[in-house]
Amino acid sequence: MTEQQPWQWGEQTWRRHVERVRAGRSLRPAAWPGGARVAVALSFDSDHETIPLRDGETRPGKLAQGEYGSRVGAPRVLRLLERYRIPASFFMPAVSALLHPGEVRDYVAAGHEVALHGWIHERNMSLDPADERELALRAADTLERLAGTRPVGIRTPSWDFSDHTLAITRELGLRYDSSLMADDEPYELLADGEPTGIVEIPVEWIRDDAPYLMMERYGALRPYTPPRDVAGIWRDEFDAAREDGGLFQLTMHPHIIGHRSRMAALTELLDHIDGHGDVWYATHAQVADYVLEQS
Ligand SMILES: [Zn+2]
Repeated sequence: MTEQQPWQWGEQTWRRHVERVRAGRSLRPAAWPGGARVAVALSFDSDHETIPLRDGETRPGKLAQGEYGSRVGAPRVLRLLERYRIPASFFMPAVSALLHPGEVRDYVAAGHEVALHGWIHERNMSLDPADERELALRAADTLERLAGTRPVGIRTPSWDFSDHTLAITRELGLRYDSSLMADDEPYELLADGEPTGIVEIPVEWIRDDAPYLMMERYGALRPYTPPRDVAGIWRDEFDAAREDGGLFQLTMHPHIIGHRSRMAALTELLDHIDGHGDVWYATHAQVADYVLEQS
């Protein structure tokens, strides 16, 4: 039997695809802790060398770009977070954590969260389900060993959430995922229409440094927005989130945002956010726990 084209699918088929993983009830709380008007959840995906490695790209020239993230970017990010006393979440592929165990210890010592981000930044959609599961379990064990506590959240590498990711997330007993985009505010994930108790902390490419600032020498990819313009977009996102009494979530990468001119723009944004005084800074795990408890 030849495979049906999507336009030939019966209603059951397209409904089944859509229902597999779906947004359930909104978990936006009536109020944030301490009377804050907006929650700010900053995250950094410490991918470093795993971006080229996952594609089998082993040239020192490519790897050095990732190495910058650990050697320069991450310490700079940590200093900035310390200055504003902001707890953040660091999503780290296990191979990156094994390459930089001291960095994991620095995150933990500063009170930040370390959470799952794959084994070697693998593309889940191209893996067998058994391989995706095995890599996720191995990554959880590795992060637990290096960070001293077991991770409670996951961000799939490249937000590549497969048909099997939710089942693996449940098997691992994780409390939240941060890879999906069905809302601005936290929500509960449904699996085939059933509530899972797992919180989604939604992401968006708009609130990610990579699409604006990445550069590929031999490809067509070029940075298309100056860093201060990126900060301007994020400032509008924050202002509107505050207006809504909601969540402002950001995804950044030490090897991308960690450069001097970009840190200047991020600093300007944090000055703006911090100037309001009615902000609750929290890790993704803290946001997930709080919104579930309030629901
Ligand atoms: Zn990543």
